[in-house]
Amino acid sequence: MSQPLLRARGLARSFAAGGGLSGRRRELRAVQNIDLDIAAGETLGIVGESGCGKSTLGRLLLALLAPSAGSVEFDGTDLARLPRSELRALRRHMQIVFQDPYASLNPRMRVGNIIGEGVEIHGIARGQDKRRMTLEMMERVGLGPDTYDRYPHEFSGGQRQRIGIARALILRPKFIVADEPVSALDVSIQAQILNLLADLKEEMSLTFAFISHDLRVIEHVSDRVAVMYLGRIVELASAGQIYASPKHPYTEALLAAVPSLDARAASRPARVSGDVPSPLTPPPGCAFHTRCSLAEERCKREIPELRKVAGHDVACHLA
Ligand code: SF4
Repeated sequence: MSQPLLRARGLARSFAAGGGLSGRRRELRAVQNIDLDIAAGETLGIVGESGCGKSTLGRLLLALLAPSAGSVEFDGTDLARLPRSELRALRRHMQIVFQDPYASLNPRMRVGNIIGEGVEIHGIARGQDKRRMTLEMMERVGLGPDTYDRYPHEFSGGQRQRIGIARALILRPKFIVADEPVSALDVSIQAQILNLLADLKEEMSLTFAFISHDLRVIEHVSDRVAVMYLGRIVELASAGQIYASPKHPYTEALLAAVPSLDARAASRPARVSGDVPSPLTPPPGCAFHTRCSLAEERCKREIPELRKVAGHDVACHLA
């Protein structure tokens, strides 16, 4: 990959957690030691079960959260070294689309003002120019001009997601983190929103980190896929490689658990058993060993590093 648009190195984020009955403060390691490059124009899918750290990773990539360790470079600029004012200016190029846009839309603001707010904040346009830009963006995402003065509660879930997308894209960003953008929507609406995002990606030369727990959605949108388990990337490869020949037992298990994908790989042996362990008390060694049918003694002691296996990056001693 030539100079990536986004580069993360040694990225980690921990949170202090309450001590429960013991009263002792504990550390929740949400993201650990992540190296990641995302090329301009690429969509990197980030997939894993709930609690695997994928949303925290998305916020770290946008510098919406400060890392506990490691760095994020955007277009060659180390975000942690930027003065606050310059980081604020750079945010125009790095936007997020949320799972639940309603929660992020000010219920007392009219939709046109919500979408156009950033244009004024970033000094791009105001007054009639701002209104014109807003109406153009609304039209592009499928919102009629008659909806400009309406309030968020007057829209359906799919329409609210269109508002969220318009708000992010009106700033002409380069990089978007889409955090479960369709998981709260009906299946038929999901397809419309995914197609809209694909069209806009093409038209506006966007780069995406697309976060989802849904492997079918990730397959649909991704060029490459990073599979996360308990805060770490356990496999990273092109979407074609991941879905045709997964190398990590966890990836195999995830794929086997999706009926429509399972038929494509009836020979896959593993189905994941048990629940994800608490990130407050992750298992030692390979964190997946408590659920892995292939686990051996070494897996309980040594953390497997990501290494190249047949074109995949895989963190498994036996891959
Ligand atoms: Fe399973 Fe061991 Fe590989 Fe972890 S390192 S995925 S426990 S075989």
